[in-house]
Amino acid sequence: MRDDPTTPPKRIVVKVGTSVLTEGTRRLSPPRMVDLARQCANLQHAGHEVILCTSGAIAAGRERLGYPELAPTVAKKQMLAAVGQSRLMLMWERFFEIYGLNVGQLLLTHGDVASRGRFLNAQDALDTLIEHKIIPIINENDAVATDEIKIGDNDNLSALVAVLADADLLVLLTDQPGLFTADPRRDPDAQLITEVRVIDGALRALAGGSQSGLGVGGMVTKLEAATTARRVGTEVLIADGAEPNVLLRIVDGEPLGTRFPALDTPPENRKRWILAGAVSSGHIVVDPGAAKALRFQGRSLLPAGVVAVEGVFERGDTVPVLVKEPIGGPPGSGLPSGSGLPSLNGEIARGVTRYPSDELQRIRGCHSDKIAEILGYTYGNVVVHRNDMVVL
Ligand code: GLU
Repeated sequence: MRDDPTTPPKRIVVKVGTSVLTEGTRRLSPPRMVDLARQCANLQHAGHEVILCTSGAIAAGRERLGYPELAPTVAKKQMLAAVGQSRLMLMWERFFEIYGLNVGQLLLTHGDVASRGRFLNAQDALDTLIEHKIIPIINENDAVATDEIKIGDNDNLSALVAVLADADLLVLLTDQPGLFTADPRRDPDAQLITEVRVIDGALRALAGGSQSGLGVGGMVTKLEAATTARRVGTEVLIADGAEPNVLLRIVDGEPLGTRFPALDTPPENRKRWILAGAVSSGHIVVDPGAAKALRFQGRSLLPAGVVAVEGVFERGDTVPVLVKEPIGGPPGSGLPSGSGLPSLNGEIARGVTRYPSDELQRIRGCHSDKIAEILGYTYGNVVVHRNDMVVL
């Protein structure tokens, strides 16, 4: 992350959606791709470090096979991705070559960053490409991604890449100028939102209505990506990929699209890994006292503070920690107890659990001294250790 936000971003992740690459048609558009390669190359030659996250594998596969009628099964999509990915890459390689740049392909899934060791490996590969001035070109490994390891959309994939690369800026290029106050195709009064500081329920509801229909992601997945990336100190921009010289102008500081400034305190690397990884669909609900201890007092989560365990998770899974009731601000913050800060009603933290859901169910609400007695063994006094937790 940049020490001074007024300096130009050094490391930039550019995500291009299928609708940008096809210009809204059924085929990948070589002129559009050349133009994007030119802009990326320009930035790279000016001393920035560009990473490209590209969609379009499935679209390229369909095109290559002559738009066959296929049942919408996972295996058929995997086939299309397998055919299309090499074609997509071949095109990027040719287009970057025009500007004297080599490219390197990285295909990722959640599985590739699930363990700390694999996260560091992926980070090393990315860093080495960048060090050698090779443009990393990244897509999801669609041909092998099963449900458990699938990221599913390239917006969230690009956020993961921003986390891995410790990027200064993530640009999500799409077929819209940015996020609007209403759907601009239906509402003539819709206004472009130029800056977002808080991503809340109202904004998510607003984004829910604007699906582009072409790629997998709509505005909802873009907000998810922005939520992740800005937490690790990356500024995020949603902008129109068809805007002339859009990347160059953004990096130049021109106010284009919707900007999400980075949050102030990026976490250290272990916590970046927690934010990057897959999150369990189950969760832990804590009482307001425990929520306060986690948020404001730097404590670990103990069984005593757990009021409910929902869904199923294993020891070692990354699990969201939720608080059901509103709680007050930190001591001395001037916020009345019980007034409720807006963000406290949902997920307050995310961390690696030391107990699986069924056993946590049995020790919830108990003093840590009782763990061994109840379970017949113990993994220690805490459910989620402070060092394995990111407070949100
Ligand atoms: N990985 C998919 C592809 O290359 C695209 C996913 C997305 O559009 O978000 O076809």
